[in-house]
Amino acid sequence: MNNFDIVVVGSLNIDVTVDVPQAPSAGQTLLGGDSRRSGGGKGGNQAVAAARLGRRTAMVGAVGAEDGEFLLNLLREEKIDLSGVRPVSAPTGQAFVFVDTEGDSTIVVSPGANDHVEVDRELVASARAVLLQQEVPAAVIEEAAAVADGFVVLNPAPARPVPASLLANVDLLVPNRGELLGLAGVDRGDLVQLAQGLGTRGPVVVTLGAQGSLVVEAERSTRVPAEQVKAVDATAAGDSFCAALADAILDGADVVEAARWATRVAAVTVTRPGAMASLPTRAELGS
Ligand code: ADP
Repeated sequence: MNNFDIVVVGSLNIDVTVDVPQAPSAGQTLLGGDSRRSGGGKGGNQAVAAARLGRRTAMVGAVGAEDGEFLLNLLREEKIDLSGVRPVSAPTGQAFVFVDTEGDSTIVVSPGANDHVEVDRELVASARAVLLQQEVPAAVIEEAAAVADGFVVLNPAPARPVPASLLANVDLLVPNRGELLGLAGVDRGDLVQLAQGLGTRGPVVVTLGAQGSLVVEAERSTRVPAEQVKAVDATAAGDSFCAALADAILDGADVVEAARWATRVAAVTVTRPGAMASLPTRAELGS
């Protein structure tokens, strides 16, 4: 059995991206630019981000017959182990991504095969770190967190309720502001107190887009400002941030140091279009 630094359990999607003048609102029809297809899905993005940072990475996921090979080839090019990716009869997951002129994206995900992921327990248990997101069924995430022996990172996106039993198995929770409010079941509130009240067994890093992030530990909280860059597409910013957090923690960084590294990695990601395509290599980061 290979020993992987990072095993990602999550979604694999084809992203269909269209540039739009502004985010569509309910009932509105907008004219956008030409559509383009690329590799995405929070799981796939985090796996590619980890691999480009030099980590031995494996993916646990599922793809359909149509389009599945397109995605698998993208991951193969990054030398990601695919023994945990199941071929299933459902359609490959798709995400319809609308990117506005500010670089902010509005996304609709059609899960398809992602609803049929099965946890490769041996693979997950062998990982030094396990990265989880919420584009696969809740039972999959709970099983993966329970069997993991290494460091467990949960990016609770898209937002949905997370049971206390799962939070208790999470070493690092990485919500954005909206996801944190949703987890706490409130409309507004002090982010530090809300994060401290969630019941995770480790710190919470709240991502705040262009405002950076907030690292919340039991006894202190630390603001980490974002880098000043010209953002063109925020797709995969959070995914690169999560993978980079795990990368730094595997190197022995504390959570604040890890957030500073993740901030650097995510800053590069937002300066380039696309999801997987925008993720930087360690060499590009100069370290
Ligand atoms: P999500 O897409 O998961 O909601 P965020 O938008 O909060 O995640 O972005 C994750 C991280 O990416 C932020 O904490 C920040 O470090 C970085 N980031 C996002 N947007 C920008 C931006 N416009 N400029 C610089 N960094 C950014």
